[in-house]
Amino acid sequence: MFDVYRRPLSALQIKDKARALGADLVGIADGAVIEAHPPDPANPKRPSDITELDGGRVIVLAKRFSAGVTRITDWGDRHKYYNDELALTMLEAASLDLVYWLEDAGYPAIIVPPTHVDPWRYRGNPREHLGTLLSLPHAAVEAGLGTLGLNLQLLTPEFGPRVILTAVLCSVEVECDARMERSLCLGPSCGRCLKTCPGDAVKHWERDWETCDTYRSPYGFAKLTDQIEALLDADSPEKKKALLRSEATFNLWQSILRGAGAINGCRRCADVCPVGADYEPMLKDALDSIAENTPAKEQRLAGMVAAEAAGESIPGYGPQRRWIGERVLARSIK
Ligand code: SF4
Ligand code: SF4
Repeated sequence: MFDVYRRPLSALQIKDKARALGADLVGIADGAVIEAHPPDPANPKRPSDITELDGGRVIVLAKRFSAGVTRITDWGDRHKYYNDELALTMLEAASLDLVYWLEDAGYPAIIVPPTHVDPWRYRGNPREHLGTLLSLPHAAVEAGLGTLGLNLQLLTPEFGPRVILTAVLCSVEVECDARMERSLCLGPSCGRCLKTCPGDAVKHWERDWETCDTYRSPYGFAKLTDQIEALLDADSPEKKKALLRSEATFNLWQSILRGAGAINGCRRCADVCPVGADYEPMLKDALDSIAENTPAKEQRLAGMVAAEAAGESIPGYGPQRRWIGERVLARSIK
């Protein structure tokens, strides 16, 4: 009966609509393929964990970050946080418009935002890394938008890692995009993401997510609980008042207002990545030199290059190979 109301749709129509709504990149993945390949089998997050009915396709939308704030080299600059938050707001609004458009055509749809985590997974530790309900970078790879880099950030041919993602789940029977087989990442011989990382969270095809979170969400829940605990523990009314009126509390308040600095923060690894057609013309002059680099980081990268050249087993690579893609050297990486 319901099919009577369904307007036939094609993948091209969906992508044209998403672009008209403001998305810069759009790809469509087969929900069944994502079901069959959870990025972390021990902690699978699949479309069916969100909806048993409407996850037949995972439509991944990307919005590029503005180059103007990417060119600001301080990872903690609040202009970056606010501009990025506005890009996210715009993409979320575009995703919602796409949902209503799909539903007007007869296909129920659901947004997977990049900031929403499953509250049932919270175990009383504000520092524990909690991912989104579906890994959007992995879904983007399945949707043909790019491949994962050395620290598992999504790289796209158009904008490198300088994009924010959402997904729309919808069981609309349209053609899916093909996953890219070849890695876009230049690997540890580039290593610019590792060289710049203020928290030293970039590993060999891995990331220390808990350390990264303290930078990419500098005024998030962990910082809020730290600040309140410090306030409660302060041993005099003067110290309590000073903490209450401190810049950290002011920034927490600002971040709660809009989410800027709470749901986003550091993205230096994305800024300096040379992958992406935008890098040379828009960014290279401002971002070529990396002030955070150190001899110790150079040495660590040299060790990674040597390990790959020697065909050593790289623990981070194997489980993520599907999404990192095949590398020139990867034929010898295990
Ligand atoms: S977001 Fe910042 S802290 Fe996290 S890996 Fe990238 S550079 Fe490092
Ligand atoms: S900065 Fe270099 S190593 Fe890091 S993700 Fe980009 S291409 Fe790969």
